[in-house]
Amino acid sequence: KKPPTRKGSMADVPQELLNELKTCEDIFTVSDETSRAVVKHFISELNKGLSKEGGNIPMIPGWVMEYPSGKESGDFLAIDLGGTNLRVVLVKLGGDRTFDTTQSKYKIPDGMRVTKDREELFAFIADSLKAFIEEVFPDGVTGTLPLGFTFSYPASQDKINEGILQRWTKGFDIPNVEGHDVVKLLEKHLKEQKIPIEITALINDTTGTLVASLYTDSETKMGVIFGTGVNGAYYEDVADIPKLEGKLADDIPKDGPMAINCEYGSFDNEHLVLPRTKYDILVDEQSPRPGQQTFEKMTSGYYLGELLRLVLVDLHSKGLILKNQDMTKLNQEYIMDTSYPAKIEEDPFENLEDTDALLKKDLGINTTVQERKLIRRLSELIATRSAHLSVCGIAAIFQKRGYKTGHVAADGSVYKMYPGFVERAAEGLRKIYGWTPGPIDEYPIKICPSEDGSGAGGAIIAALAQKRIAAGKS
Ligand code: BGC
Ligand code: MG
Repeated sequence: KKPPTRKGSMADVPQELLNELKTCEDIFTVSDETSRAVVKHFISELNKGLSKEGGNIPMIPGWVMEYPSGKESGDFLAIDLGGTNLRVVLVKLGGDRTFDTTQSKYKIPDGMRVTKDREELFAFIADSLKAFIEEVFPDGVTGTLPLGFTFSYPASQDKINEGILQRWTKGFDIPNVEGHDVVKLLEKHLKEQKIPIEITALINDTTGTLVASLYTDSETKMGVIFGTGVNGAYYEDVADIPKLEGKLADDIPKDGPMAINCEYGSFDNEHLVLPRTKYDILVDEQSPRPGQQTFEKMTSGYYLGELLRLVLVDLHSKGLILKNQDMTKLNQEYIMDTSYPAKIEEDPFENLEDTDALLKKDLGINTTVQERKLIRRLSELIATRSAHLSVCGIAAIFQKRGYKTGHVAADGSVYKMYPGFVERAAEGLRKIYGWTPGPIDEYPIKICPSEDGSGAGGAIIAALAQKRIAAGKS
């Protein structure tokens, strides 16, 4: 979405609010110097994650040990367990860098993200798969269908069809899944229900994005998600992954590539370089997993609306805004998702009439036009910070790998829906590198919309895994 133009002057906003705004500008603006310091520390943390000792950033080998050739072909199922939906896709890989997909979405029932019974989640996935194959294969299935399972949480893998959940992120919180292999948990339900599916590969969404885009664009260097969570994947040289020593079967070439799911949302859990505000500290303290996903909590869509809410609640408690308004709703954690700052920034009217209506309807508050201008400016600050910090992960990977140019395949709700995010991300990279301002398509590192990572990407990775198995390789 195009960047919004800021309309209306701030001249009528009272001085005491402008003073608060100035403070917010100071704490939410990431200077070029800070970005570069973040990138520098990021590189050392990426390396630590690959070392035997390990570090904060998991740097999980994804067991995708080849680049897609574009010739992968056949029919595959792919699923993507997202925040709101389970997407099920039938992917027909054409074998000529093309693919076709047929998909359905199944709404994750309310409350399932935090159900106490893990079996409910996996039964839901199995039921959805069953419904899907009954629909697309009304005459039944011969043999079994290979499935690529996109699971967008940090899951350790010692092989491609395994994923031991390290910890839930993005508000999911189901007991007895952490420490367990989600492939096995799902397989159990597939077997019980006699669903003719074999889970061929477990995939992170970033790895899927990387591989799907590389299938069609050979310039692709990374797959990244700017969505409910943030993360990136890239290909590392097996030889440069010290922690793999002793874990590699003999037939795996030591000079080959290995896709790495970085899980860099956990960057700087030690709080050494990220410019955290008191609002970031609050978000962390109130989350089900304090101390985790520090980078993600400052940048991803799950938190942007909440950050805005916390600033508003703070200004209200100081008696500066929303005087005499009923704060019942605004006091509820996570009542505003990222669509709020997004809609507010997109409001086409000088007096922010859409914003007025939105806040009235959803939150039961009346705002003055001056307050709305302040809220709009705060949205801009929070979202711009998200873009400018998010791209530090990209710069770190590029610098670590010595890539001077290349494409970054991007996906995720913030990337696709937040007005101006694309331009702000490009501007963030420009500032880190000191490039001359110009059309963002001409910058040496270009962030491009990805191919369907969890659909096509899942299928291609499943195809690569099948090929390895067929060749008798580990
Ligand atoms: C998860 C990653 C995922 C990212 C984007 C994070 O919260 O830990 O596995 O890639 O969100 O979906
Ligand atoms: Mg997703």
